[in-house]
Amino acid sequence: MGNPRVFSRLAVQGRPGLTTVLRLAVALALGTNLLYGASVFFVGRPPGGYATLWDGWLYHVATTLPAALVAIRAIADRRWRHAWVLVAFGILLNTVGNLVYTYHDQNLSPIPFPAPADIGYLGSYLAFAAALVILTHGRIGAVSKAVRLDGLVIGLSAAAVAVALWFDGVLRQTGSSATVLVGLAYPLFDVVFVVIVVSGLAPARFRPDWLATLFMLGAGAFIVGDIVYFNRVTTDTSRSSSWLELTWTVGILLFGLAPWARENARAHRGEVSLNLAAVPLVSAMMALGVVAAGVSGQVPLLASWLAIAAVAAALARVALTVRELRRANEAFRQARTDDLTKLLNRRGFAEELDSMVARSATDVFVLMVDLDGFKEVNDSLGHHVGDLLLVVVAERFARTVPKGAPLARLGGDEFGIALIGQRALADDTASALLATLDNPISLDGVTIRVGASIGIAGTPEHGTGRGELLRRADVAMYDAKSNHLGSAWYEAAKDPNSRERLALIGDLRAAIDDRAFEMHYQPTVDVLTGRVVGMEALIRWNHPSRGMLLPEEFIPLAERVGLTPAITRAVLDLSVAHLADTRARGHDLRLSVNISAHDLVDDELARYVRSTLDAYQVPANILTLEITETALSIDTVRAERTLNALRSQGIRISIDDFGVGYSSMSQLLNLPVDELKLDRSFIEGLGSDIRAQAILCATVQLGRTLGLDIVAEGVETENALAEVTSQGVDLVQGFYLCHPLPAGAFERFVTENKPGGVFAIDGAVGPRASPEAIH
Ligand code: C2E
Ligand code: CA
Ligand code: CA
Repeated sequence: MGNPRVFSRLAVQGRPGLTTVLRLAVALALGTNLLYGASVFFVGRPPGGYATLWDGWLYHVATTLPAALVAIRAIADRRWRHAWVLVAFGILLNTVGNLVYTYHDQNLSPIPFPAPADIGYLGSYLAFAAALVILTHGRIGAVSKAVRLDGLVIGLSAAAVAVALWFDGVLRQTGSSATVLVGLAYPLFDVVFVVIVVSGLAPARFRPDWLATLFMLGAGAFIVGDIVYFNRVTTDTSRSSSWLELTWTVGILLFGLAPWARENARAHRGEVSLNLAAVPLVSAMMALGVVAAGVSGQVPLLASWLAIAAVAAALARVALTVRELRRANEAFRQARTDDLTKLLNRRGFAEELDSMVARSATDVFVLMVDLDGFKEVNDSLGHHVGDLLLVVVAERFARTVPKGAPLARLGGDEFGIALIGQRALADDTASALLATLDNPISLDGVTIRVGASIGIAGTPEHGTGRGELLRRADVAMYDAKSNHLGSAWYEAAKDPNSRERLALIGDLRAAIDDRAFEMHYQPTVDVLTGRVVGMEALIRWNHPSRGMLLPEEFIPLAERVGLTPAITRAVLDLSVAHLADTRARGHDLRLSVNISAHDLVDDELARYVRSTLDAYQVPANILTLEITETALSIDTVRAERTLNALRSQGIRISIDDFGVGYSSMSQLLNLPVDELKLDRSFIEGLGSDIRAQAILCATVQLGRTLGLDIVAEGVETENALAEVTSQGVDLVQGFYLCHPLPAGAFERFVTENKPGGVFAIDGAVGPRASPEAIH
């Protein structure tokens, strides 16, 4: 205990007078105790062991002065005043006991035991114990039920052992059970002290601060004194002044000093921490030993009962532990559970995923599922129905995922599944999850159909840790959602944060600046004349390391980073130049160029188109800009303005992929439009799907009524050509007629097939071109 800062500054704040008194009292208390201690060893005593100066005056002053220290503390420290008053009171009671004892010692022989003095002594122990309870409860830390039970186990066991060891022997010698009980009460009280202090320390991880340390040392001194004295009482009740006397004076002095110990200053952090978890266990074992000895009749009945009580307390402690464990378990489970669906929540999922990744470095897959159309359900039918829907979906998912695979609701309408296995298992699970949503869900009298988009990422290909997997599955999920794919694997190129993607964006910017795209052109044929009347410009990018890239490999990326207007300018430059070239060779062709959603909010587009056309001296009315229905529906007001600006210059507007969007027909037809390009999917379906036929027929009617051109794209077979022709479509485009071709090949194709046209009317079809044939 070399720490010089055991005590807080011995001063009472704001009360210099009291501080002086305190310092004086400390000096006196230490002085008198030292002096008395020295006298025990160095000053001879008369026979009988009592010297009035030393054992009368000095002894009583030394053992009483500590009360003054505590009393001053009680004045200075309002918070623990009750405790300090009790300690001071205890010291005074001890003095009363001492005085009575001294009186008996001087006047009676033999000194009676038990005697009135014991009332003072035992009373002081009670006061100390009460003070300790207050202190441990408030200052050292709140004491839990479990710790109190531990204390009870220790106390009862100690009592049982003490009774077992001494009771009979002492009883035999004194013949009085009162003697034994009172005598035993002292060491037992001491044990209670220690138990109270120690159990009070439990919440502080048994790291005693100086207050606790001083109290424990004081109680330790008492224990030694009380046990030794108790063994002596049986033969001789006199307390001759010996070192034994010092155990009590030291104990009292320590009790007197303890209140001035520094608060919260841990003695040598960490070093002095006691591991006392085993103490209640060892105590209970000892109590069991006493019970066992009781069976063979070797210990007094009282000891057996005390031991049984100790064992009962230990059992209660076990029961409590079990209950606490169960409650902790329940709290743990709840913290990991989603209230609504009873699936795991995000935290629980994270933990499961962590442990799966820790178990297996490869083949851990994360499926991120997000419902499609959930927001609409919530908005139109209310949160209540939305919640019910989530519960039903959760149940269906739970039935579908492989056994043991963690399934969680990660928040909102987002679910997560983790799997260990083959890649195919992830794919199969995704398909199975999507299939569970095929059946509509009836809730509250309404039938709802929702879909889902699933993103998949797996170790080690897409990451090695939980964070990476979750994020990448999320990226894949957005890909699946925006491209209506159902489910999609993570692809670095589509990841807004992947290095590859950033590199690709850089390369794309360079390609735009250098106009390094290769345009392919696909002819549009007039079915009536069989002539090539136009061409659609389709962009290709010959990437330095990735080779020839199709638009779907970089246009969506360009759209997401806002590069499409720049690409459109490049495409216009290249294709209008080609158009001018082609026309210069005598081919009277039109040009169609695809534009994107971002182009529609580009106020400069109309001017750029104008100046490009002017530069090549190409009339505006042979240029058609194709825009998809979906792009048009994003910002209709601005789209209309841009389209009007273009149209006022004579440029034609075509709605691409017509029929697959969700925009309302009336809204669509309010826009300035010249042409509808029926989506490829309808042409594919013509042979088998009666609905496709109906849509084709309706679109042709619509075109006639509104004076719009109708183009059928994706004509791949003779049958399809015959079909669209018979429905009255004028313009066709597709692999059956010609694949998109590079400028040179296109030129050859058009030249070779010019005279009279090659595509006969009425389904009788002439030679056709494929890239292989032409190149
Ligand atoms: P799109 O405007 O619908 O273009 C027609 C696509 O269908 C072309 O694919 C073409 O090669 C393909 N195609 C033509 N005939 C047939 C057929 O008979 N059967 C089948 N299965 N496909 C046929 P491509 O060139 O890969 O272009 C895909 C999409 O990329 C285009 O769809 C268009 O939306 C976009 N795109 C192409 N070039 C550009 C461009 O310069 N700018 C912008 N913003 N988008 C472009
Ligand atoms: Ca197009
Ligand atoms: Ca199209």
